[in-house]
Amino acid sequence: MSVLISCLVSCLTAVAAMAETAPAPLGPEDEALCPAEISSELFDALIGWIAINTSYDVSQTYRSPPEIFFCDTGAIVPYDEGELLVDTMLDAVFDLRRRRVYLVFPWSPDDDFDVSVLLHELIHDVQHINRDWDCIGEPELEAYWLQDKWLSEKGLVSNFNWLAILQLSTCPKSE
Ligand SMILES: [Zn+2]
Repeated sequence: MSVLISCLVSCLTAVAAMAETAPAPLGPEDEALCPAEISSELFDALIGWIAINTSYDVSQTYRSPPEIFFCDTGAIVPYDEGELLVDTMLDAVFDLRRRRVYLVFPWSPDDDFDVSVLLHELIHDVQHINRDWDCIGEPELEAYWLQDKWLSEKGLVSNFNWLAILQLSTCPKSE
């Protein structure tokens, strides 16, 4: 137990020691977006949780966070090389190309499920910085598994459809 505790403390200390950097300025395509104000306390807590609960190096995500925006259901947002319609099925989206998180309104830092959605998208940033993935869906199983773990630590049940998530995470067989 003491070994575990010292690991946790050193991880947290390492995360706390990292510097913050200013986000990149917005381009013309971003004018309609609403930058999300995420407190540094919440961001630090989520990054610290990822550091403790995975073997990934979170330093790049911590020092240079992805951009985080709010958007409404029905909005069309820049995504990868094109645009994405934010349909009613989406709680959030991670645009790997821009390292950008879109959180769909309504979203509140006081709602643990909403916070877990932000955690999920930050996990995607960490996942892609740390390793290559065979297809865009492959990181989902781990991201949902970690989100479920975070929720269960809050006493909440995710009710995720694990069969659908497993299918989403399974890359198409290459020819
Ligand atoms: Zn995801």
